[in-house]
Amino acid sequence: MTVHFQKAAIIGTGLIGSSLARVLRCRNIADNIAGAARSVKTRETALALGVVDEAFEDPQKAVQNADIVFVCTPVGAIGETIGGCMPAMKSGAIVTDVGSVKSSVIRDVLPFLRADIRFVPAHPVAGTEKSGPENGFAELFEGRWCILTPTNQTDKEALAAVRAVWESAGMKVEEMSAVRHDKIMALMSHLPHLIAYTIVGTAADLETETREDVIKYAAGGFRDFTRIAGSDPVMWRDIFLNNTEAVLDCLQRFSEDLTLLQKAIRQKDGAALQNWFARTRNIRREVIDARQDRPENEKLLLKSKG
Ligand code: NAP
Repeated sequence: MTVHFQKAAIIGTGLIGSSLARVLRCRNIADNIAGAARSVKTRETALALGVVDEAFEDPQKAVQNADIVFVCTPVGAIGETIGGCMPAMKSGAIVTDVGSVKSSVIRDVLPFLRADIRFVPAHPVAGTEKSGPENGFAELFEGRWCILTPTNQTDKEALAAVRAVWESAGMKVEEMSAVRHDKIMALMSHLPHLIAYTIVGTAADLETETREDVIKYAAGGFRDFTRIAGSDPVMWRDIFLNNTEAVLDCLQRFSEDLTLLQKAIRQKDGAALQNWFARTRNIRREVIDARQDRPENEKLLLKSKG
């Protein structure tokens, strides 16, 4: 299905919003793209890069006459942002979001929703640790998953249109309940970020001399953790404040497993450690095999290691 809109609005022209704007532009999905952001810098950058045709501080101005509105602000601001836009939205328009947590977004948006506005909750699972329009790029979404979490009230035509937008961006699109989405993301994305924030924070708390050595010789695992722990503080604050239950559940299981490994190390139980690491190596292989967009040589390399 191909989609085309006369006017699209993007509220929050940061990394995700500006990358999406680039897709709308290069795939000819919208004739006119209006953006909104709080800061002059974000608005001026988005305009200078040509990813939006006009940029407003007030989201209400951006959404006027828009056929589709993409809300790309941090999770905690999505409900209020959509609420603020409601009076200015065109009847029949679609409003969708890109938030990394879905149950809380649906909970926050529904009370504001006008009966003639069609809401489609969505999460393109693609990103980097960077923020802002200057770091966006149209290829960001290629080959990645986009998860749609429609409610009982979600209009089928609007759902199909949002699916078509993300497919045009090169994404594989799947539908599931918001609760299932939040559980998967808690383990796949939110817990790893929490671990990275913890490890890098622990290094920061070390006595000066050790900390300087850790930073100077940073390599391998720790370096990767610093990249993840360099992710946007506001975005991640909102994720943990809004996916609380699922994250705490994962964290509980993680702590139990960590205790098991701690015990195996203390007891010098090499067999237990080796079994554990062999099991996780198999999971790594499954992850690689499931990623069709992986370079063939990486798959071969892993297979050749037996
Ligand atoms: P970003 O680059 O920091 O952009 C956020 C945008 O929202 C900026 O335009 C910002 O405007 C605006 N904004 C920030 N706080 C706001 C508030 N309280 N009210 C209204 N507007 C506000 O962040 P991003 O990485 O694009 O993330 C945006 C959304 O995408 C989040 O919901 C996140 O969960 C989701 N997401 C992110 C990733 C990822 O890896 N980055 C992946 C998938 C989904 P100013 O610049 O003017 O402050």
